[in-house]
Amino acid sequence: MIIFGTKGYLYQLAILTLVCGQCGNPSAHTLRKRVTKFTLFFVPLFPVSTKYVTQCTFCGAEQKVTGEQAEQLQAQAASGGHGGQQSYGQPQQPYQS
Ligand SMILES: [Zn+2]
Repeated sequence: MIIFGTKGYLYQLAILTLVCGQCGNPSAHTLRKRVTKFTLFFVPLFPVSTKYVTQCTFCGAEQKVTGEQAEQLQAQAASGGHGGQQSYGQPQQPYQS
């Protein structure tokens, strides 16, 4: 008997200040990566899907971004502004797909 399935992972990559497309406020946004991995006997083997989203901490609106955009945003977050500070301290929520 072979047991397989998928498991979702959520990584918080960066926090940056962006103007929100939803509420229009220049507020902190979290950049997150959602990875769905194929598991065999509960061992994650390889990712089957990777998605990037930003979420406005002001209104909670989520926006999908491409991997390229996510890299740019990470570079932007690393180069200035917050300097790696994680002052928002939101607990990591395990993502269940
Ligand atoms: Zn917003």
